[in-house]
Amino acid sequence: MKVLVCDSISARAVERMRQACLEVDVQDKITAEELLQVIGNYDAMVVRSRTKVRKPVLDAAAKLKVIVRGGVGVDNIDIDYAQAQGVRVLNTPGASTDSVAELTVGYLFALARPIVQATISLKAGKWEKKKFHGAEIQGKTLGVIGTGRIGKAVARRAAAVGMKVLGYDVVASEPVPYLTVTPLDELLAQSDYITLHIPLLESTHHLVDADLIARMKDGVRIIHCGRGGVIDEDALYDALVAGKVAGAALDVFEIEPPKDSKLFTLEQMIGSPHVGASTKEATARIGDEVAELLIAFE
Ligand code: NAD
Repeated sequence: MKVLVCDSISARAVERMRQACLEVDVQDKITAEELLQVIGNYDAMVVRSRTKVRKPVLDAAAKLKVIVRGGVGVDNIDIDYAQAQGVRVLNTPGASTDSVAELTVGYLFALARPIVQATISLKAGKWEKKKFHGAEIQGKTLGVIGTGRIGKAVARRAAAVGMKVLGYDVVASEPVPYLTVTPLDELLAQSDYITLHIPLLESTHHLVDADLIARMKDGVRIIHCGRGGVIDEDALYDALVAGKVAGAALDVFEIEPPKDSKLFTLEQMIGSPHVGASTKEATARIGDEVAELLIAFE
């Protein structure tokens, strides 16, 4: 089976696939145009979030049998069209859970204590002790929207540092001891911090808009390590300027990389370039699972 690796995965995964006699080509900087030229030669492709697999790619992929997405979100793949063409789409859902949960908890602390802003000020030669007065997170309420794998992993960690954790999901899940399932409006009204762990779907596009933010507690802090497009970034900007939202930490953006985002002009917004799953442990787990899926598929 000929496999095209379009986004970077671990060298160990590539080696394991080659040892299992898969013919693997790694082209992890391939452009959309180049992909269209070569995809017709491959039976399988491996992508992460960078490579978009839409209709033109699938139309050019005459031999393709399987797409493996290293990671969770499959919104970069036109799944319905792929399946209609007889192409299976597989992913590695649990491999990045702990890494994303840890980044989220890092942001909880960084919103409570302005570590990022204080570092920038300190390095600029300032000593602004009063400005960087913070708050504790223990005793505060965290609202988790989307209590799937990552939402639960965040809830467990937040409870361990003394937070009260409320959770809302559209699908009822098994009760867990560290999270109180709560109707959305109650969660919005009570939470000091809100973190989003839901996929980008038609139903979740701009779920966090001006109306939803208005139903949140004044001075709420929002963390988003889920998927760009779930937050209406203009509405978030307005709410940050008005002080309704006291701080925001974003790992994901509607357009990546963001172009001239107004949010970046605000000191109370901190962020990262979609690095939720970018740890050596998650990368190793994702690679191992990708290799296992493709070896088993053959
Ligand atoms: P999951 O499928 O285990 O959980 C998602 C949960 O969201 C599900 O329980 C689902 O019922 C719920 N949900 C869907 N729509 C909802 C809505 N409107 N309101 C409330 N709940 C809703 O997925 P997961 O593994 O926990 O991952 C969550 C998301 O995190 C992924 O979809 C992905 O986009 C994102 N993610 C980001 C990174 C990153 O690098 N920042 C890495 C991995 C995953």
